[in-house]
Amino acid sequence: MKNAVEVIQREQLKEKPTESLGFGQHFTDYMFVMDYSVDKGWHNAVIQPYQNIEISPSAQVLHYGQAVFEGMKAYRQGESIVLFRPEENFKRMNRSNARLNIPEVDGECLLEALKQLVALEKDWIPEGEGESLYIRPFVIATEPHLGVHAALEYKFMIILSPVGAYYGDEQLMPTRIYVEDEYVRAVRGGVGFAKAAGNYAASLAAQTRASELGYQQVLWLDGVEQRYIEEVGSMNIFFVIDGKVVTPELNGSILPGITRKSIIQLAEHLGYEVEERRISIEEVLDSEHISEIFGTGTAAVLSPVGFIKYKEREIKISGGQTGSITQHLYDQYTGIQAGTIPDPFGWRVE
Ligand code: PMP
Repeated sequence: MKNAVEVIQREQLKEKPTESLGFGQHFTDYMFVMDYSVDKGWHNAVIQPYQNIEISPSAQVLHYGQAVFEGMKAYRQGESIVLFRPEENFKRMNRSNARLNIPEVDGECLLEALKQLVALEKDWIPEGEGESLYIRPFVIATEPHLGVHAALEYKFMIILSPVGAYYGDEQLMPTRIYVEDEYVRAVRGGVGFAKAAGNYAASLAAQTRASELGYQQVLWLDGVEQRYIEEVGSMNIFFVIDGKVVTPELNGSILPGITRKSIIQLAEHLGYEVEERRISIEEVLDSEHISEIFGTGTAAVLSPVGFIKYKEREIKISGGQTGSITQHLYDQYTGIQAGTIPDPFGWRVE
């Protein structure tokens, strides 16, 4: 596909942002777009100026939410541009596609197209400590039709957004977490393991309530008994229990994070014992063996949890500070990403 991607030049390039970047507020000059129809399959692959798109008011995505997305980052390191395990994102997108009845995409071709897009936009990759270019591939059902069925037409796009450092001064900041005991994010057999747009819509009311109560993230419990820990905000969650690194096992309602998978591999490589199993909220509240808790995700990498609020109780973890194993994993992981620590896994893609 590398040669098949047409590039439409823009007449004038945009001004690069000079103020603080934040997250997902600025978009680069170009985007990648391709269309799907039943007779042509995926076609019309093009890199074109970032601009509004036109879809019909009856496009299926607007009514039935047939949409999936991905999130990953490109880093600038001197003269090189580095992606981190990008093939994993396209694999996960195809698992999401399969669940939402969206046609499969060709991950290898899309990785080539993504490399071409990022190379074209390399001047947009910020160079400050912790800054990166956030990459958002997504698919929407565009067929104009109100019948409820798998759409016959789709659009796949990749947009790029320069983003700031998650932690301003590179110090990990422990967060305050609210355990949601009314709403659930996902249920087994549903779409929790997919990066389906609707999962995020379903999470908003709880997130707003947690913010109003002074907490930064929601801790989600399972959808059946509301007892077992699933995820924290849009991150996977890890516990340090008796020195072991423990995370909820994937069960169909948890999103299989690429950071989760990488932290498991890294922790094992560093000699920690890792366990994937069910962890109940009672175990978390009552255990004297849990010394650290942290979330993992592309945006924050590792985010330590300092406080957990469940019903009438609030507990402090690691004295509200970042624990030593959390810090160790964070330093090693970001070091591999930044190329300052050798990458024994082949995760970096230049
Ligand atoms: N859980 C949810 C619900 C998420 O949205 C994300 C972010 N993609 C994650 C976990 C972490 O996944 P990753 O490590 O691939 O960013």
